[in-house]
Amino acid sequence: MIEKIYYSENRLLRSPNFFSDENWIKARFHDKNTRIVPIWRNCSLIRNTDSPCAVTLSGNHARGLLEISGEIALLGVDESGQDNAYIAVDVSEHELPTLTPMMGSAEFVDLRQVGVLMDGHDGSLLAHARGLMYWHRHNHFCSECGNPTLSAEAGRLRRCTNPECGRDHFPRTDPAVIMLVTRPGPEGGACLLGRHANFTQGMYSTLAGFVDQGETLEQAVIREVFEEAGIHVEDVDYRASQPWPFPASLMLGYRARATSVGIEIGDDELEDARWFTKKQVANIGDLGLRLPRKDSISYWLIAEWLAED
Ligand SMILES: [Zn+2]
Repeated sequence: MIEKIYYSENRLLRSPNFFSDENWIKARFHDKNTRIVPIWRNCSLIRNTDSPCAVTLSGNHARGLLEISGEIALLGVDESGQDNAYIAVDVSEHELPTLTPMMGSAEFVDLRQVGVLMDGHDGSLLAHARGLMYWHRHNHFCSECGNPTLSAEAGRLRRCTNPECGRDHFPRTDPAVIMLVTRPGPEGGACLLGRHANFTQGMYSTLAGFVDQGETLEQAVIREVFEEAGIHVEDVDYRASQPWPFPASLMLGYRARATSVGIEIGDDELEDARWFTKKQVANIGDLGLRLPRKDSISYWLIAEWLAED
């Protein structure tokens, strides 16, 4: 069975109508059904047990956070009714003791530490909030004229405050390709995995890289594999995608077929790359090695390949 793709089960509705209706938005700030999703210095509010879950706030605690928050952004409304809004608030400016009275038994935790243990919807909601707040925090100035920007349309965009410019800036996501390179052979063939020096000890993962200007996704796959491992590939085949707000990527997952075998570590990115047979990947612990974290699309791409006959 193919494992789920983490952070990809966001079920909030995001109709532009919600964001542009100021009266509706104002009403949400005072609505007891509104859920507040706090972000503090890239960390999310989580009840950190064996089964961690997202903690959202409503009522007095929600109003308390809204009053002291920095950026605020509407994430969307849930499926149960269009008035059940989810709003992300950034409280990074405050020290923890200020926030503690509103946190109950929850704590601010880096989603990357616990996302793999969370329910799909919870993890996706927190990933959405974290990514959007990150974008707001890093776009306080207009890239066109350098003047300050302000959040507009309930956080759907930022608008330049210079009246002669007034440019609207929309949240950006950086596309990155991530690919499992395979080659045919006995017992299901082999795949190419590599490791960066900063990986957890013994971890081998699929290759990946950002998409350059003027480049298609398929060209990016071909270029990255050759740059990193000296392997030529073809039959570049899209498999799946994953929001990866650590800090601002959209991972586009591919499978590619190698047309060469000899590995040559090209640039300074990888410290090693190897071919692994299916059997070796399935029992990678026997080699003293490990696969990437389970909440990554890298793991999903490997698991999908392993599950094939
Ligand atoms: Zn401007």
